[in-house]
Amino acid sequence: MPVHVVGNVCLDTTFRLARFPEPGETLNAIDCSVALGGKGANQALAAWRADAEVHLWSAIGSDAEATLVRRGLVEAGLSDHGLTVLPLPTDRSAILVDAGGENQIVSAVACARAFDPAASGWLAAARPGDALVLQGNLTPAATRAALEAGRALGLLTVLNASPLGERADGLPGAPAVTVVNRGEGEALTGQRDPGRIAERLARTSGGAAVVTLGADGYVALRDHAAAPRFHPAVPAKALDTSGAGDVFCGTLAARLLLGDAFEPALHLAARAAAVAVTRAGTFGCGPSRDEFHAWHTRESA
Ligand code: ATP
Repeated sequence: MPVHVVGNVCLDTTFRLARFPEPGETLNAIDCSVALGGKGANQALAAWRADAEVHLWSAIGSDAEATLVRRGLVEAGLSDHGLTVLPLPTDRSAILVDAGGENQIVSAVACARAFDPAASGWLAAARPGDALVLQGNLTPAATRAALEAGRALGLLTVLNASPLGERADGLPGAPAVTVVNRGEGEALTGQRDPGRIAERLARTSGGAAVVTLGADGYVALRDHAAAPRFHPAVPAKALDTSGAGDVFCGTLAARLLLGDAFEPALHLAARAAAVAVTRAGTFGCGPSRDEFHAWHTRESA
């Protein structure tokens, strides 16, 4: 039973700078690195590392960057068979990081916006009991259609409503599990209290809801009839918190699909996310498959 991640993939170019440039100014970077990214790819890799079989359904362009994306996915352990090639530039982000660790990000998202999951073959490959994981990078219409198709087919549907984009007016459908961070939850529900946010989301979707709170942990609600429960984060010495949310979501979806109960799956997700904050980057910043296996096996022994 695989996890189908329907989402985006992109190439991230990160420039480290002493400071951000002023308007009109040209600055030399301290260094520059290129890595795979995109919430779809990040969550797909986290789910695979948490022991699930994973299919990433995404779109790339027809350019040299597309080759790098394919190679990066395969080298990480994922397959490139679910990639749709579009006559567009592959999606990219330029990430500027200053000496204080603050960042500025500009993204080109033509492929994510043009991607039509219905034409990608994911639905024909899915079987009842599989999981479907969606994020907020595709158009709201594409996300809604995939979610509805997944529910109709009897998939375990997981929505990480991030980034919100035009979606601040509500969830695109009724996922079995909704995951948001605090800011997204506030924007979606108008509530400030994480417990209230989770209650509202669970009531709207009829499913489970998780509100992540960074280093403070998360609040989770198994279903709309349950009470929200706060869980502290697994302590970690944070180096780079970007990508923690993706590792959390991918791991959670994988573990739920693999039959873990809600709370143990959440705990593993938080544990994997705590590893992610100790490592730089987003794609593959969580525990490796071997690491995950070692401590998961030890814990369940
Ligand atoms: P991002 O967009 O940066 O990937 P996010 O905003 O979606 O992240 P967060 O709420 O920042 O998600 O983090 C997700 C989870 O990761 C938290 O619920 C927590 O379990 C874990 N986490 C985040 N930051 C830390 C930290 N400093 N120490 C330990 N765990 C952390």
